[in-house]
Amino acid sequence: MNWINNGKKPVLIAGPCSAETEEQVIQTANRLFRTGKVDVLRAGIWKPRTRPGAFEGIGTKGLPWLQKAKELTGLPVAVEVAKASHVELCLEFGIDILWIGARTTVNPFAVQEIADALKGTDKPVLLKNPINPDLDLWLGGMERLQNAGLTKLGAIHRGFSFAGEKIYRNRPQWQIAIDFKTEMPNMMMINDPSHICGRRDLLQKVAQKAMDLNFDGLIIESHINPDAAWSDAAQQITPEVYGQLIADLIIRDIDPKDLKERTKLDILRKEIDILDDEIMNVLASRMKVARDIGKYKKENNMTILQTDRWQEILHKFVERGLQNGLTEEFITRVIKSIHDESIGQQEKVMTSE
Ligand code: PEP
Ligand code: MN
Repeated sequence: MNWINNGKKPVLIAGPCSAETEEQVIQTANRLFRTGKVDVLRAGIWKPRTRPGAFEGIGTKGLPWLQKAKELTGLPVAVEVAKASHVELCLEFGIDILWIGARTTVNPFAVQEIADALKGTDKPVLLKNPINPDLDLWLGGMERLQNAGLTKLGAIHRGFSFAGEKIYRNRPQWQIAIDFKTEMPNMMMINDPSHICGRRDLLQKVAQKAMDLNFDGLIIESHINPDAAWSDAAQQITPEVYGQLIADLIIRDIDPKDLKERTKLDILRKEIDILDDEIMNVLASRMKVARDIGKYKKENNMTILQTDRWQEILHKFVERGLQNGLTEEFITRVIKSIHDESIGQQEKVMTSE
């Protein structure tokens, strides 16, 4: 449920990664306000940096700057909290919305400490996904906040850290956010293109995808002089570029008002249902054959995994997938997952009496 702006979509949160100086906070707030496309101002005061030595936030002295930005623009302000002392200071300085960062959501002790510090307040809180792709940890963090009696809650999807070749700073893994929405359908879900992308040129595409997936809103980092930002410089954009990004978004309806369009959509959805059914039937048949193979291997005392055979299947799959316009990454994930289940089913047969 979107409690920030009475159901209007999308909810728009913008502001610098970090509050740096009073002037920077006020100028960013004023210029963002002028775009007319901001519902909430954000600014980090305490910055959990992965390596020590990076800018770790201006600290408590930045809180009055946010109070001033709020007075000048009338916009509510949001700050990241990571422990009870941060919560107490935010309550003291009238910060409207708190958010819990990805490095904090991974730690149930920390989330519980924050939840305990908020008991009895009904303060609005947004919970970022943990840095690792663990849906339960994200849901569990939200449950801790709910158990503390908080009702104005929302989730922020900011992507998941990963090793290896990178386009994104944090891999989006949209499915995890969709799974979260399935588990908690009434929870507001906001996308954070800035921390997913880590660079300006990808922001528009990710923000659009979030809108197409029916997310409730966006949180985007904006700075008056992005290149000179004290944290996350490469992903920040000026308030004016931000305004244009939002203006360029295409916001689609979930249910087309036009009856003819709706019928067309119904037909396409039916087609998807039929195809999903087929996928399920084919998978079930494949697993049955895998069990039969398991039986054969057991009788003939053979190993489950035959590496050459597996390499051959993988190769063939990728080749066919590419011919059909699928990405190698996707097709590899699918076949590996199917293979994994087949091995599990064979194993069951082979270890049974
Ligand atoms: C932030 O919002 O500036 C931040 C630190 O984000 P995350 O917790 O997603 O890394
Ligand atoms: Mn940041």
